[in-house]
Amino acid sequence: MTDSIIKQYYDALGEGKLLGKKCKKCNEITFPPTTACQQCGSPDQDWFELSGKGQLLFVSHSMAPPPNPRFNEIAPYAYGHVKLAENLFVQAVITGVEVDPDTLRAYFERGPVPVVPDIKNIQGLNILAFKVEEK
Ligand SMILES: [Zn+2]
Repeated sequence: MTDSIIKQYYDALGEGKLLGKKCKKCNEITFPPTTACQQCGSPDQDWFELSGKGQLLFVSHSMAPPPNPRFNEIAPYAYGHVKLAENLFVQAVITGVEVDPDTLRAYFERGPVPVVPDIKNIQGLNILAFKVEEK
């Protein structure tokens, strides 16, 4: 049931957990979870809780208005590419960084920076975000 996977994913986010699916056939992890393995398409998957540990590879921000009005609440915000410990890549809101060009460029020049999940609840919806722990 697709609805059930989505609901469980968002409910877990609310508890600070990142839930994905792990394929029983090829062991690939699919995150965010879907009904079929992203690698081989098999529907035969188990729930898998990700460590949440990641490295921020690239962070930027957009001058454009948020894609959805609900994001106005946290705008302006940084957005970045995170490589998770499980070797998965996600794009998410990045917190704990100043949203100004010089700061963002400095992160780019520094290379990967450790991040941890920082789930935001915006108007009742849990949003996956990551926080930079060291400045
Ligand atoms: Zn698979």
